Amino acid sequence: MGKVTLESVYKIYPGNVEAVRDFNLEINDGEFLVLVGPSGCGKSTTLRMVAGLEEITRGTIKIGERIVNNVAPKDRDIAMVFQNYALYPHLTVYDNMAFGLKLRKYPKDEIAQRVKEAADILGIGELLQRRPKALSGGQRQRVAVGRAIVRKPEVFLFDEPLSNLDAKMRVQMRVEISRLHNRLETTMIYVTHDQTEAMTMGDRIVVMKDGIVQQVDTPIGLYDNPANKFVGGFIGTPPMNFFNGQLVMINSGLVFDEGSFKVPVPGEWKNALNPHVGKAIIWGVRPEDLGSPAAEQIEDAPRITATVDVMEPMGSETFVYMNTGEHSFISRVDAHRIFQVGEEAQLAVFVRKSHFFDAQSESLIV
Ligand code: ADP
Repeated sequence: MGKVTLESVYKIYPGNVEAVRDFNLEINDGEFLVLVGPSGCGKSTTLRMVAGLEEITRGTIKIGERIVNNVAPKDRDIAMVFQNYALYPHLTVYDNMAFGLKLRKYPKDEIAQRVKEAADILGIGELLQRRPKALSGGQRQRVAVGRAIVRKPEVFLFDEPLSNLDAKMRVQMRVEISRLHNRLETTMIYVTHDQTEAMTMGDRIVVMKDGIVQQVDTPIGLYDNPANKFVGGFIGTPPMNFFNGQLVMINSGLVFDEGSFKVPVPGEWKNALNPHVGKAIIWGVRPEDLGSPAAEQIEDAPRITATVDVMEPMGSETFVYMNTGEHSFISRVDAHRIFQVGEEAQLAVFVRKSHFFDAQSESLIV
């Protein structure tokens, strides 16, 4: 069983560096789980604790039903793929892939069969007699993945495996790893700082910051309902726009007042937002909910006025960088909508898809 359980796991490095704090999660058998967050948030440390490469300071880690706190890495039935591939330069691709099996004294025939099978899956059958230096970055990465596959582990661990590849190869390997997961149906835990990788690959995503789990959810769950401002801003490109302002009551209706514009708030949010009337609040709106074709089609959508700073045509749409005088923000508009730099533009807002966050705690209110 490739279920992995972390219960109240802490990692405190010497010097009282709290790298991971109270990590609790049950990773399902066969799940593709992504740990994502900015550099230094504790995601590699978490993965390395599952691998057994890092001792845990407190808590329990289980693989299947077995507590592995004191089990050596080689006895955990896991295989890890590293960012730098960690291939032996003097060994051929075949021997690199066979290395772990030879160490475990597998019969020669079985080694040959497993290496061939993995090489076929990864399309590197032609490369088996080459040495790593005669391979491209993408090919090396496939060999590193192949070396993990031949072990047929209960759990695969990936630590930023695509960081050293160019942008195009990254996208290609991303798809290949997803395909591999569909085929093997083995539990995979994947660490990345790249939210696009997290969104496109994960069944579920754990967002971390400063050693603390911020939210665990499906990609769409995170995107639609971020637990706090950090998650809202981290997941999605271009990122969510944030406007600091105040909630005010006008004619018994709630209105968000940014300073340069006012937007009426949907009546059904009244109960949740009432306690915040007269207080500072943060309004979060995704770029596609400001001036996008979908927003512009809403009848009676509220509009905000802002000045156009820069336009970035993407072909399918255009990113427009704007400012209200109080805040800068980005909107994703129809590619054929023409703005002039310096122009005062009016943008419809899809208010029901926007969010309010508490100005102090930065937690989601609605
Ligand atoms: P991430 O993988 O998210 O970039 P890490 O898990 O590598 O983050 O690191 C988390 C925190 O722990 C960082 O503040 C880092 O500086 C610290 N850290 C990592 N390894 C060590 C170590 N061996 N000794 C002391 N501090 C460490």
